[in-house]
Amino acid sequence: MSAPRMTPREPAAGAPLWLLAELTYRCPLQCPYCSNPLDFAAHRGELSTDEWFEVMRQARALGAVQLGFSGGEPLVRDDLEALVAEARRLGFYSNLITSGLGLDEARIEALREAGLDHIQISLQAADDDLAAALAGSRRAHAKKLAMARAVKAAGYPMVLNVVLHRHNIDQIGRLIALCDELGADAVELANCQHYGWAQLNRAGLLPSREQLEAAEATTARWRERLAERGRDMRLLFVVPDYHEDRPKACMGGWGSIFMTVAPDGTVLPCHSARDLPMRFPRVHEHSLETIWYQSAAFNRFRGDAWMPAPCRDCDERHQDHGGCRCQAYLLTGDPTATDPVCDLSPDHHLIEAARAEADGDARGLGELVSRNARESRVFCRG
Ligand code: SF4
Ligand code: SF4
Repeated sequence: MSAPRMTPREPAAGAPLWLLAELTYRCPLQCPYCSNPLDFAAHRGELSTDEWFEVMRQARALGAVQLGFSGGEPLVRDDLEALVAEARRLGFYSNLITSGLGLDEARIEALREAGLDHIQISLQAADDDLAAALAGSRRAHAKKLAMARAVKAAGYPMVLNVVLHRHNIDQIGRLIALCDELGADAVELANCQHYGWAQLNRAGLLPSREQLEAAEATTARWRERLAERGRDMRLLFVVPDYHEDRPKACMGGWGSIFMTVAPDGTVLPCHSARDLPMRFPRVHEHSLETIWYQSAAFNRFRGDAWMPAPCRDCDERHQDHGGCRCQAYLLTGDPTATDPVCDLSPDHHLIEAARAEADGDARGLGELVSRNARESRVFCRG
């Protein structure tokens, strides 16, 4: 395949402030809402330690200050401590985004010595049984709880992240209580975003409007309760797009502040963009500076000249940038379309149809497609 097209430098583009380093697509868990690409099994190659060092140096030189290590499960890389040390040497604020599997007290200490600033652990549910059914692992939940305690004992600021969907959203009060007991500094109650495996399982994951409203009310009560106790644990409740009538300002705008480097060195404006029918450059082909400022892929949806009606003439276009390109493509087959979440979009009926489809879907948890290499091979081409 030929290298992707470069275009003249886009003068309006600022620096990428955020680098998300997806170190690997390997993961011991099998969440049916995973945002990794459906065909992740086809992307087996991973950048070497030295290649990641070079990526980090180039990103830092471009102006990036925040670095997230994610995956898959980044702890499966045994060079994680070396990568963290290099991030510290370069002056990044670094964050490990992990399931907690692969962590132990010795590794927490090694990561701290290497200079890791922050750890985010994901929880699937408030109890063993549901967590096991979601993650495909009996031992994962207990391990996560033990590691959350160890992370706090080591003095880290800790964010706990829970992806919410119809199977766990009714546990929200118990989930918040659990996070409180674990000593979290912040909790992301993130309603599932429908990309990758979550899009495949969408009808079986979307919560009902009633579930959502009850969960928001419970979260509000918990905020009051925490404030009364003087407990500083921020609760961030991320509403699902499919119950909104305006889209999110995805990534703060395409190629605006955020750069993802996938395990094989493909450079993306967000971790879901691999789903789009576009050719994204790899770090082996061009420098990050060239990719960020000059690649056709990163310039494709910058600014507003690409926008169709109704976004083109809409007063809100500088706030939401027309919504999410990946969501527009997944729903309409057209990556330039107005995000159908917007009720001004001619495709908004697709969102209403998806809600109706989910409301009529009686699938149990065991009938969702698990994210694993066997299922992924079904989606691998060639
Ligand atoms: S969402 Fe689940 S399966 Fe996907 S990378 Fe995270 S822990 Fe692994
Ligand atoms: S029409 Fe476009 S710019 Fe206007 S609110 Fe909807 S998505 Fe945003």
